[in-house]
Amino acid sequence: MNSGRKEIITQALSAGRTTLTEHESKKVLAEYGIAVTRETLVMDPGEAEKAAADIGYPVVVKVCSDQASHKSEGGLVKVGIRDATELSAVAAELGLRAAELGGGLLIQEMVAGKRELVMGLMRDPLFGPCVMFGLGGIFTEALKDVAFRPAPLSKEDALEMIGETKAAALLGPVRGMEPADMDMLADNLMQLGQLAIDNPFIHEVDINPLIVRDGKPIAVDGLIVLSEEEAVADIVRAKAPLDPLYAPRSVAIIGASAKTGKAGNDVIKNILANDYEGEIYPVNPKGGQIEGLKVYSSIADLPEGIDLAIIILPAKVTPGVIRECGAQGIKTAVLAAGGFAEYDAGGAALQEETKKALEDTGIRALGPNTSGHITTPANFTSSFFPLGKIPKGRISYITQTGNFATHTMRYVMSVEHYGISRVTGMGNKLDVDEADALEWYADDPETEAIFVYLEDFKRPRKFLEIAREVTRTKPIVFLKGGATEEGAQAAVAHTAAMASDDRIIDGALKQAGIVRIHKYTHLVKAAKAMACMPLPKGNRISFMAPSGAMLVTMTDYCRKFTGLQIAEIEDATRQRLQDMSPPFVTMRNPVDIWPAVTIDGLEKAYTRGSEAVFEDPNVDAVVMILMLMDEVELDSLDFVVNLAKRYPDKPLLVTFSGQKSHMEAAKEFLEPRGVPTFALIEDAFAVLDVLCKCGKAKARA
Ligand code: ADP
Ligand code: MG
Repeated sequence: MNSGRKEIITQALSAGRTTLTEHESKKVLAEYGIAVTRETLVMDPGEAEKAAADIGYPVVVKVCSDQASHKSEGGLVKVGIRDATELSAVAAELGLRAAELGGGLLIQEMVAGKRELVMGLMRDPLFGPCVMFGLGGIFTEALKDVAFRPAPLSKEDALEMIGETKAAALLGPVRGMEPADMDMLADNLMQLGQLAIDNPFIHEVDINPLIVRDGKPIAVDGLIVLSEEEAVADIVRAKAPLDPLYAPRSVAIIGASAKTGKAGNDVIKNILANDYEGEIYPVNPKGGQIEGLKVYSSIADLPEGIDLAIIILPAKVTPGVIRECGAQGIKTAVLAAGGFAEYDAGGAALQEETKKALEDTGIRALGPNTSGHITTPANFTSSFFPLGKIPKGRISYITQTGNFATHTMRYVMSVEHYGISRVTGMGNKLDVDEADALEWYADDPETEAIFVYLEDFKRPRKFLEIAREVTRTKPIVFLKGGATEEGAQAAVAHTAAMASDDRIIDGALKQAGIVRIHKYTHLVKAAKAMACMPLPKGNRISFMAPSGAMLVTMTDYCRKFTGLQIAEIEDATRQRLQDMSPPFVTMRNPVDIWPAVTIDGLEKAYTRGSEAVFEDPNVDAVVMILMLMDEVELDSLDFVVNLAKRYPDKPLLVTFSGQKSHMEAAKEFLEPRGVPTFALIEDAFAVLDVLCKCGKAKARA
C-alpha cells in the first residue's frame, strides 16, 4: 500500500476510524518533511526477520494497529532487539497481540539518542490549530514543559517557542552531545502548522518522542487523530464601519432623564462636560427640556440618520427600541442595560432577540451590559458614570469591564496624569467585539498605544491576526482575566491534554507581539509611562539609588523579568561616575548615588550620574530612585524634567524614597511635565519591563 496522505485519511474515515496507526501517521508526517524512522509493516510475523535484516540491528518491534494508540502501556513496544534469535521470540509474542488487535508488526530502526522531545498539534476551540513543542518521552505529562503557538507559525515563532521551554537547555552542546539542529526543529514545527491548515480532518497530532540523533530530530512515534467534522475557519460577515460610534456627528439619548443621579441624566452631563460639538437629541415621552436641550418625545420624531443612539432603558424593551432606531436610520448604538445573557435564561433569550434586531436593522452596537465608551478626539463619551471632562491623550483601552469608563477612569483622572484617546467597554459583545475595536484602533491616528483587558475572546484568531500587524507600530499590552484551567479537554493525544488555556493564550499573545501583564494596576501604570516616554531600543537598563539595599534588591528584582537586563556600562562611563564620587566607593551600574550627593548635593549628583548613564551607548533606559525629605536640600525638580527632555530617545522612570509630603509633591510636579513616577519602587521596574517588551515586539521582523 503506497498511498499518500489524502488517501490514508479518506480511507480511514470511510472505514469509520478516527485514529491512524503509527505507520500511517508517519507517512503523513513524512510528506511534511518530518524525518521519521525507517520501518516496515509486516502482517505475518514470519516476515519480521527479513525486514529486520534489511533495516539492520538493533531494531524495535511494535504492534501497529489503530486500536493501540498508547502502545507501551499495553506492553506493545520492544526496543533494542539485537539479533534474529531475540527477534523471533518477540515477533511470536507480539504477533499474537497484533492479531488480536487487527494489526501487524512494525519493524523499525532503533534510534540512538538521549534527548526525547515532543511535538504536537491540537485544535483549540478558540484559537484554532495550535502547535506544541516540549520535553518528550516519559517526562512529558509529568513536567508539562511545553509551549504552544497558533498556526501558521513563522520561523521566529517556532524558535521562540522552543526557547521558552526548559527542554531548550538540552538542545545545546550538552554533555558531549551534538547540538540539536534548531533549523530542522523549527521547520518541523512550522510544517505541523501547515499540516493543520491543509488537512481540516486532522484533529490532533502527537509526535512523542522525537529523538535527537547526531543533532537531527527523528520522529520515532507518531499518532494522528482524525475528526469526522471538518475544521472551519472563522466566519466573517461584512459589517458597517464603526466611525459613527467613535466619531459621532449626532447622538440620541434614548431614556434621557431630567433627574440628577439618573444614568439618563449623567450621560448628558458627561457629553456636555466634554464639549461635544455634534447634535444631541434627548428622547423621553415626557418631552420638555433636559440640561437646556430640547427633548423629543419619541424615536419616530427624531431626524433621520443619527450616527449614534445611547439606549438607557430596561433590557426587555431593547429589541423593540433597536427596531425603532433602525426605522429612523440610526447607524450605531450603545446598549447600556444589563440583565441579558450574563443574568439568567430569560436574559439569554432576550439577548438572542436583540441580536436578531441588530442583524435585521444593520445597526452596529456596543454591549449590552456596558457602561459605554469614551472617544476624546470627538469630545465625546457614552458613559453614564459622572466623569466630567476627560483629559485627551494617545492611550486607548479595550476592556471587558465598564471600569475604564467609570471608577478606574476616575482614578486615572484624579491620581495619574495622562490622557486618554478611546475606551471601548465591551459588555456582552453581542455585536462589536474585541477584534472590531482593535481593527478600528489600528487605523486610528489618535491611538498610539493599546491596553486590553479581556475575560474571554469572541474572535480570537481575527484579534490576533490584526494584532500581529498593529504591534509593529503600536504597542498592545494585555491583561487576561479569569481562571485558566489545566488541560481541561478530554483528549486522545497528549498534545491536547497539555493544552491548558493559559499556555495557549501565552503563546498566541507572544506570537502576535502582544505584551502580557498580570496586574490590573499595570493597565494604568504602564499606560502612564507609555503616554510620555518612548519605547526603549533595547532592554539594557541603568538605575541609580540612594541605598545599597535598594541597589541589591532591585538588581535581584530585575532578574524576575525576561524583558530587563542590567546594562554593562562602558569604562568611560564608570570613570565619570567614579570621578563624582568619593574614592572609597567603587562605582558601577547600578549607580550608588548617595556618596556623590554628600559631596555635591542632590541636584548635581543625580544630574551628573544620569548624564553619564544616558550617554552610555549600552544603556537603553534609566530608573531614578529619588530620595526626598526635609533634610535634603533641593530648589526644584526641574533638573529631572530637563534630563527627560535632553535624552528623548531613552525612557526615564522615577520612583522615590523618603517622606510622603515630598514624594507626593514630586509626583504632582513631574507627571504633568512628562516624567512618570511610581509610588512603589518595584513598579518602576515592572513597568519598564513592559516597555522593553513592547519595544522588542515593535522591532521584530
Ligand atoms: P507509545 O505508543 O507508548 O508512545 P512509542 O512508540 O513512543 O510508544 O515507544 C515508547 C518508547 O520507546 C519511546 O518513548 C521511546 O523511548 C522508545 N522508542 C520507541 N521507538 C523507538 C525507536 N525506533 N528507537 C528508539 N527508541 C524508541
Ligand atoms: Mg510515543
